[in-house]
Amino acid sequence: MRLVPQEEVGDHLVADVGEGDQQVLLLCHMDTVWPTGTIQQRPFRVEAGLGYGPGILDMKAGIAIALHALETLKAHNLAPQQRVRIIVNSDEEVGSTTSRQLIEEEARKSAQVYCLEPGAGKEGALKTGRKGVGMFQVRVTGRAAHAGNEPEKGISAVEEMAHQILRLHSLTDLGRGTTVNVGVVQGGTVRNQVAAFAEAMVDLRVTKMQEAERVEKEILSSTPVLAGASVEVTGGLNRPPMERSESTALLLNSVRRFADPLGINLSEAQVGGGSDAQFAAAVGVPVLDGLGGVGEGPHADHEYVVVAELPRRVALLASILAGK
Ligand SMILES: [Zn+2]
Repeated sequence: MRLVPQEEVGDHLVADVGEGDQQVLLLCHMDTVWPTGTIQQRPFRVEAGLGYGPGILDMKAGIAIALHALETLKAHNLAPQQRVRIIVNSDEEVGSTTSRQLIEEEARKSAQVYCLEPGAGKEGALKTGRKGVGMFQVRVTGRAAHAGNEPEKGISAVEEMAHQILRLHSLTDLGRGTTVNVGVVQGGTVRNQVAAFAEAMVDLRVTKMQEAERVEKEILSSTPVLAGASVEVTGGLNRPPMERSESTALLLNSVRRFADPLGINLSEAQVGGGSDAQFAAAVGVPVLDGLGGVGEGPHADHEYVVVAELPRRVALLASILAGK
């Protein structure tokens, strides 16, 4: 096992199990979307067969499944068919900016990649397609003025931002699967001042690379509506869309023979959420994503895993790795 030290985020972890020239890669992430201390407010608990806690589905359960699958093989004196390399990164929820290169390098060396993100829906479907994700920041500068005495001398950055938000949201095209969401807005300092500054954080989702390029250009070319205001947009596409590929479809079919004896009906789903599987898929290797826990509410307060599904998912991954 080795640590890949980081300064801005936690260290990433890389470990190998088994031997052989051929490599299979397991992708896990240890970070969650929850602020430090959330565990004190919502400690781990099991109630009516459901396990609760911050990040339990996305994706503490996935890490537990990966480790238990490898332990299960060891306990039964079964070696994985190929050398298993496991990456547990610490910055997935903030775009994997420091782990992306590591993931791409290891994916290139791998015959298959399995990602332990949660399965989709109550069936725990595997995710064979994911939307591309863009992240942008919009900064608007205006001019401060007294809101009562001389409002005409001010240029409201908040008003300008309102125009920008409406335009950005109008880029959403649900028919194409394209969404633009201004998720965070901040601006101004006090009520009785024309606001000099405002900023926003914008999320983009797209199903196709061509569409990603088109909308990215639209967002980056935002221009001010109010005379004297300025608008600066930074950011871009973070994760490329993962389009369902022939090699992934073949891989899904080949793992169905391990799912059937376990009574798992392996369905597939195309989802809007991003994951590191997209970086792996983009280098051209077959990727199965969603082999982690089954539950509901990732990134939400009611997040849970179905406890009874955990051993079945462990058995499925162990069978896939052992090839029997
Ligand atoms: Zn995740």
